[in-house]
Amino acid sequence: MSHYSPLSCLARSLPHHPPLFPGRPPLVTFLIALWAGLPHFLLCGHRLTRPQRSAIILKIRSLQLRAKAREYSGGAIGLRVSILASGSSGNITLLETERTRLLVDAGLGKRETLARLAAVEKTVERLDGILITHEHTDHCNGLPQMLGLWKAPLYVTEPTLDAMQCILPETFGKRLRGVETIHAGQHFAVGDIDVHAFAIPHDAADPIAFTFRTNGAKLAIVTDLGYMPALAKVHLRGADCLVLESNHDLDMLKVGPYPWVVKQRILSRTGHLSNHAVSEYLSDPDGFDAMARYLVLAHLSEENNNPFTAEISAQEALSRRPAECAFRGELLVASQHVPLQPLEL
Ligand SMILES: [Zn+2]
Ligand SMILES: [Zn+2]
Repeated sequence: MSHYSPLSCLARSLPHHPPLFPGRPPLVTFLIALWAGLPHFLLCGHRLTRPQRSAIILKIRSLQLRAKAREYSGGAIGLRVSILASGSSGNITLLETERTRLLVDAGLGKRETLARLAAVEKTVERLDGILITHEHTDHCNGLPQMLGLWKAPLYVTEPTLDAMQCILPETFGKRLRGVETIHAGQHFAVGDIDVHAFAIPHDAADPIAFTFRTNGAKLAIVTDLGYMPALAKVHLRGADCLVLESNHDLDMLKVGPYPWVVKQRILSRTGHLSNHAVSEYLSDPDGFDAMARYLVLAHLSEENNNPFTAEISAQEALSRRPAECAFRGELLVASQHVPLQPLEL
């Protein structure tokens, strides 16, 4: 039986290995590897059998994986998505890379926004931009306070800006530091995040939705739309994370407390996306490509939907997909009252 000393064993295996602890000096790597083999060395003297050698390599591999896990949780991020609130009483989402921080919509007041940030263990000293999808108050109510807090440039279409100036208090105009007017169809960059704005059908002045690309990750946030236009489906393809409106259950809306005129508005082609419409999209491989690691149902109505109904409806739709294009990601439901756990892409 051949024998190996720990040092010769490590010397033989290390050159054929990928770097065990990338970025560490060779001496540190060697000392860690020696530590992994030390118990065997003490127990067996300097001679090792093949199984003992395999055990050492296994231990080194597990140390390597733990180091990688630490690097992943505490180190570089591609894109982190924190949905702080989602629904008809307020929408706000924080996007972060190593270099850039963006808010998408500002539908909560300062105190509530800071409380939600604290709930996901975030303190935001600096913001690189605030993007507004449309002028409905659940998307821009907190904007004057957010501008006072962070003095960040505002990215908004001109018709939406005009509409907000009519709706929001005077402090909004006074606190505007910089406005970047954008338009549907435009690609632009904020820091290291590439943004694409596209039109969606909704009863606002100039409603838009966004996709974001950075560090090889793609995120889509699409809420407040009466139906899924074919072009929107194209924009959502390839998304690693899709945040999609699933506003109401058709039956709950029909028998619910809203006046008929409001019900008609919600059901219209410029209203909100129903669980049923989401089901049709999710079950169709020509529509939803099922590439997403995270599929988040968002902007749920508190009166005409509930998280369980929306989730079951989406699950049922996903189960109807052919096996070869099954959805293998995680289905989540965003809440009006509690932030969703930050998603890392
Ligand atoms: Zn809304
Ligand atoms: Zn709206």
